[in-house]
Amino acid sequence: MSDYINKPNSNLKNLQTKTSSIYRKSLSAVFPGSFDPITLGHTDIINRALPLFDRLIIAIGINVDKKYMFDTDTRIEMIKTVYRNEPKIEVMQYSGLTVDFCQQNDLKFILRGLRNPADFEFEKTIAQTNRKLGDVETVFLLTGPETSFISSSIVRDIFRNGGDISKLVPAEIMHVIISEQKKE
Ligand code: ADP
Repeated sequence: MSDYINKPNSNLKNLQTKTSSIYRKSLSAVFPGSFDPITLGHTDIINRALPLFDRLIIAIGINVDKKYMFDTDTRIEMIKTVYRNEPKIEVMQYSGLTVDFCQQNDLKFILRGLRNPADFEFEKTIAQTNRKLGDVETVFLLTGPETSFISSSIVRDIFRNGGDISKLVPAEIMHVIISEQKKE
């Protein structure tokens, strides 16, 4: 009997190792932004983050003092259209602090894209503040060279002036953009 008790239980150890890797807590992250509109720069970051997380919430931040080109419902529709076949992605909207949104939804990771040193300087203080305020980590992915120049504001400028934005935004949202253009 004592022999049995003192023997390391290798089966139990194996089982613990197995269960801890199979049943690790699922990882969720939020990708916050204005997505006015979603661009190929955003989708580059989202697509590369998908293998890292079990669930990715794309959260449209609403700032009442800011004027958007596309209304919130249109921006949500555009993102949902692009990711209609991706079960890991949810689209939400929020106002106020991103860190409060994280706490309300039990999210521990914020995803951000970095295009250049200016993005880094801007994001650094926000990330450090969010870690202090809400114990939330920010995960940065570096932009791909072929999309680093794209920003929603460039897309809006081209769109306003009647230019071709089809190389800057996902093909799936062109019909939404064209129908918005007709409304103007
Ligand atoms: P924008 O700056 O284009 O208006 P958002 O405010 O919606 O975009 O930004 C949401 C996130 O997407 C930010 O982390 C931003 O750095 C990232 N992002 C936007 N465009 C790109 C891009 N071309 N490459 C990498 N990340 C990007």
